[in-house]
Amino acid sequence: MKGLASIGGLLGISFVILTAVMISGSALSKPGWMKDSMSKLEKELTEKYGTEQSARLVKGMDQVARFWREEDGVAETFEAFVRNNFAGDEKTLDDLFIRWESLLESIYGHMGEIRMAMGRQADLDIGPLYQFDRVFASYSPSAHIADDFFKNKLAFTVLLNFPLTKLEERLNEGQNWTRRQWAEVRLAQWFSKRVPSDVNLELARASAASDQYIADYNIWMHHLVDDDGTRLFPPKMRLLSHWNLRDQITADYGNSEGGLERQRMIQKVMERIVDQTIPEIVVNNPHVDWNPYTNEVWPAKINDSDTEPPTDIQITAAREPDTRYRIWFDTYKASTLVDEYSPNAPTLIARRFNEGREIPEEQVEAMLVQVCSSPLVKKIAAMAKKNLGRDLEPFDIWYTGFRSTGKYTEPELDRITRERYATAGDFEKDIERMLVALDFPEDRAKYLSGKIDVEPARGSGHAAGAGMCSAPARLRTRVGAEGMDYKGFNIAVHELGHNVEQVLSLCDVDYYTLQGVPNTAFTEAFAFVFQGNDLMLLGLEQDSGGRAAAMSIVNEFWMTAEIGAVSLIDMKAWRWLYENPDATPEEFRKAVIEISKDVWNTYFADIFGKKDVTILAVYSHLVHSFLYVPDYAIGHMIAFQVKEQMSEAGNIGVEFERMAVAGRIAPDLWMKNATGKPVSADALIEATERALKELD
Ligand SMILES: [Zn+2]
Repeated sequence: MKGLASIGGLLGISFVILTAVMISGSALSKPGWMKDSMSKLEKELTEKYGTEQSARLVKGMDQVARFWREEDGVAETFEAFVRNNFAGDEKTLDDLFIRWESLLESIYGHMGEIRMAMGRQADLDIGPLYQFDRVFASYSPSAHIADDFFKNKLAFTVLLNFPLTKLEERLNEGQNWTRRQWAEVRLAQWFSKRVPSDVNLELARASAASDQYIADYNIWMHHLVDDDGTRLFPPKMRLLSHWNLRDQITADYGNSEGGLERQRMIQKVMERIVDQTIPEIVVNNPHVDWNPYTNEVWPAKINDSDTEPPTDIQITAAREPDTRYRIWFDTYKASTLVDEYSPNAPTLIARRFNEGREIPEEQVEAMLVQVCSSPLVKKIAAMAKKNLGRDLEPFDIWYTGFRSTGKYTEPELDRITRERYATAGDFEKDIERMLVALDFPEDRAKYLSGKIDVEPARGSGHAAGAGMCSAPARLRTRVGAEGMDYKGFNIAVHELGHNVEQVLSLCDVDYYTLQGVPNTAFTEAFAFVFQGNDLMLLGLEQDSGGRAAAMSIVNEFWMTAEIGAVSLIDMKAWRWLYENPDATPEEFRKAVIEISKDVWNTYFADIFGKKDVTILAVYSHLVHSFLYVPDYAIGHMIAFQVKEQMSEAGNIGVEFERMAVAGRIAPDLWMKNATGKPVSADALIEATERALKELD
């Protein structure tokens, strides 16, 4: 497999072809007796059930064979299993399907309730949190279900009778399928891979190691010293890469005293993280000072930490030895262990695009390129330059000044929300009214609010959907001692959007296996629509038209272009990994640097007047999130399509419900049903063009 992959890379064969080659060359070989058993059964059962069942039978046996292991039994066991479990007539097939539908809801619904109960103390603001509460909360009761169902062969009853599909089939043929066919396809996908537990463990280990590496990657800012010996940042400031570093760049736009010097210095730090010239000793270490420009380090002249400097440590400027790229590479290596157990999506790239997002890699890439290469980037950059009164520098990719301040001040809003919502219960009582205000018909508002429980969150809040319709969706929200502040209300309204989607797409979708939305971007879209109406829900004037709205669209486009470019880096890096499975961390570093320069030069170099910039590769997600970044970019685009449709229809509630009950079909089909068009960047681009005209 490795050989094929590198030859593919060498010849520049596109990834799709490569995938097909890898399936036929899969390392999982069937037991020697399998072929004979299958032809014997084909003959025998075709005689029994008729020729019209034989295509289904052959496909089903082949699917079982793909996952059958020695431990599952010898030829006689396999043959008896097929004889006893092939549903050879419509009635039996119906009964099997209905059994699975109701049992899956029961299993995952109750497992979900157990998990809720075990996490209750950790999730809710209801008293002390002990160490044992954390252990209760970390228990996952459903972790072994898939294993169990392969062991007792229940999973094989699905594989024998319902079709596994490839993404192309779901996209090309799915529009002609009945709802029941879609539900059967989703049922089969439940068992589309059989990953051994040691592989899952290895994956969890690589994931935990990368999370840990990122979580400990702090820069002590007071210890950054410029060429004049000046410390630009205050004592005790410790910034996590990359989120805090990026947010500090954003915050420093408001700082006319030395903000620009600080932004430039952070950019230098980012460059050194990406190219790994950063001295290893400065990472998460308050006991050294560092000049990021000259790259000199020396014992800290000031101690602003709670720890004493170690006495015996050798200070050296030795660079970080490509740890960043070794950790990232390890997530790739762990991912490849799954490949052979996932025959329908045999690479992490395929699993991310074909199973998780269900939007082909080429389509996602085209959407990202469409945004990044749009002439709008240049126009918006010109606005930024005008606002800033200077030429743009690379870090201005994180400029967020396209916002106008609202009509109400935060303290005013805090006062209003605190008065209304002293407790979580007050918010719950108000849900029905809010839904009516959002144009849900009165009976639907009553029904939906009856299915949502509001509880006080320990953290900032979240929406926890149920796994079965008889259980409530939970809205966890933060309510302070003085009542709910505006920030908390704004988040609670966002979560309420999730909850309403969760109830509708669980209880009002016709099949359990079709519950939910195509991918996470879709539920975020619903939540954003609710959140965007938060002031209206307080009886205040929503800034929904005019300059403020136009500015926020421009801001959203700019953010999408930025994260879109990072997404392209992520995708190209993972392709490189699959083409270079034996690379060293050093080779991988060089590749990522080349890729990030290339992406920058293609889309931004002219606009920013600077070539070969690497800072977009500073994103921590690249290192630890297994090719997740494109979800953020397409999430913006999908949210925009949904929002636009609702505002055009002029009726949030009715449209919301119509869209949500489509359930988890393919994203493009879902979007065509919702808006008449497939998933695309067009809505965002068109709205941005209109917004720029309005601002002119
Ligand atoms: Zn959300």
